[in-house]
Amino acid sequence: MHFPLTVRDFLDRAEQVYPDRIGVVDEPDQPASSLGKLTYGQVGKLARAQAARLDQLGVPVGGRVAVISQNSARLLTSFFGVSGWGRILVPVNFRLSAPEVDYIVRHSGASVVYADPSCAGLLNGLDVPHRFVLGDDDGLYRPGVEPRPWSEPDEAATATVNYTSGTTARPKGVELTHRSLWLNATVLALHAGIGDRDVYLHTLPMFHVNGWGMPYGVTGLGGRHIVLRQVDGPEILRRVDEHGVTVLCCAPAVINTVLDAAADWKGDVPGRDRVRVICAGAPPPTRTIERVAEELGWEFQQLYGLTETSPLLTFNRSRAEWDDLPPAERARKLGRAGAPALGVRIALDTDGEVLAATNHALHGYWQQTEETTAAQAGGWFHTGDGGYLDEDGYLVISDRKKDVIISGGENVSSIEVEDALCAHPAVREAAVIGVPDEKWGELVTAIVVVTGPDAVAADELIAHCRGRLAGYKCPKRIEFAESLPRTATGKLQKFRLRKPYWEGQERQVH
Ligand code: ATP
Repeated sequence: MHFPLTVRDFLDRAEQVYPDRIGVVDEPDQPASSLGKLTYGQVGKLARAQAARLDQLGVPVGGRVAVISQNSARLLTSFFGVSGWGRILVPVNFRLSAPEVDYIVRHSGASVVYADPSCAGLLNGLDVPHRFVLGDDDGLYRPGVEPRPWSEPDEAATATVNYTSGTTARPKGVELTHRSLWLNATVLALHAGIGDRDVYLHTLPMFHVNGWGMPYGVTGLGGRHIVLRQVDGPEILRRVDEHGVTVLCCAPAVINTVLDAAADWKGDVPGRDRVRVICAGAPPPTRTIERVAEELGWEFQQLYGLTETSPLLTFNRSRAEWDDLPPAERARKLGRAGAPALGVRIALDTDGEVLAATNHALHGYWQQTEETTAAQAGGWFHTGDGGYLDEDGYLVISDRKKDVIISGGENVSSIEVEDALCAHPAVREAAVIGVPDEKWGELVTAIVVVTGPDAVAADELIAHCRGRLAGYKCPKRIEFAESLPRTATGKLQKFRLRKPYWEGQERQVH
């Protein structure tokens, strides 16, 4: 007998096998709305109560329900309470402005919008039948109320619509099906070795690609979720210490804040020889990988993927045959995006664009047929990233197509130059962009954040790069900044850095 794979399977298993286990520890910094510690039995009751309330509101199967929330137990519960009974969850970035939220709510056609108390202001002015603040007083959570069954569960049905950050155009709604989310969550759990002894710290905002599937996978396998809102190094270390965290996921910029905090930590850094940190969202500088091993003693893993692929495409973790390699060589190997994950095929087109085929790629862009057809031309998903496969068949991302700099007719990978700059001990972070130039077409320009005033001069950094890179790749201009613009997930927003230089000019993307 077959039954359709749906995201409810994760919750059902946790309720059945681990009903009394503490499954979720909510963020304690919000005493008014925090749910404290919840067993999986309680998580199940909350999800059912939410589904029952959506029945009462008349939201049909396939109806869209948007949630604007920082990480919280209620947001986590909504992954099941909304999608688990056939509605479509639209997780919204809580950092968006009111007009941006309005666009997503209208475009998705959501009839119910929830916001957590810290984002409640975003509900004002939304033209939707039902708006609620997530919390005890909204009447949504009445344990014991049973929802109507989802009469025809369908694994091909859309479970979530996740809007892209829209750095180049209007955000697009990525439709992910139950089957896609199921496969992504289980395959990622398999690669990352998630099990019932794991304590997972939510350093990623859950709205972003549904927390990469960890709200599902960790639940189904009986691990424990630790909810975190304030994503910075000292707080991460404190939680790792307090809750015995074993695994977390973050972008390289967040790992750097943990490294800084570890330098100030009194006593042994928590989690040594226990924690695995899965890095993704941006290429990690080699120096960061070395420092994770040296200064934290945590296992470094890397994932590459996109919202459109749920996100898992490739995964990299330490291999037995690398144990004897010198640390720098091991870090270099771990710095690559990784081997195709189980069930993923990777290919490169003639221009070096990374193409992917997987059963957990998007169903389509919500109500954007042309964009859907273009993204899947030739039966492959076109990632927009340039890359190549190395001697081990591991994927190396050379750059986003839109970030490649063409200087003097040569292609320069901004990632490679950033990696070289970050190898200088005085450089904390670097972003490399092309700025218009009469002679070179685009001038390789670096914006760097350094460890302190006068920590290093521009000339010295250029000379440092010359020792590591071909001349045409070396930055011709260095600028110093206090910080770099980033998304909620810690990704560099290079379009913001480029903007002042390209005002009034069209930049060609190759
Ligand atoms: P958009 O501008 O398209 O809205 P986004 O950053 O919001 O972009 P995501 O789906 O969050 O879109 O990010 C996917 C992109 O992040 C990939 O295409 C790739 O460029 C980058 N990325 C993710 N993981 C890695 C990695 N391990 N190494 C290098 N780059 C990565």
